[in-house]
Amino acid sequence: MKIMIKEPNSKFIKVRCNKCKNEQIIFGKSATKIDCLVCGQNLSTSTAGKSKIKARILEVLE
Ligand SMILES: [Zn+2]
Repeated sequence: MKIMIKEPNSKFIKVRCNKCKNEQIIFGKSATKIDCLVCGQNLSTSTAGKSKIKARILEVLE
């Protein structure tokens, strides 16, 4: 059996868009760029497999 190692950035993160204050839940380890669904503001970019959150983090969901 393999032991699952929890990575700190593999969670769902609730963020608030800096531009329109829309709250959105994004995956912390997404390999793709994530934009706000309302105004299109970039919320997260991916660098070498790691996400860089550019919006305000409200909550980290387990
Ligand atoms: Zn927005």
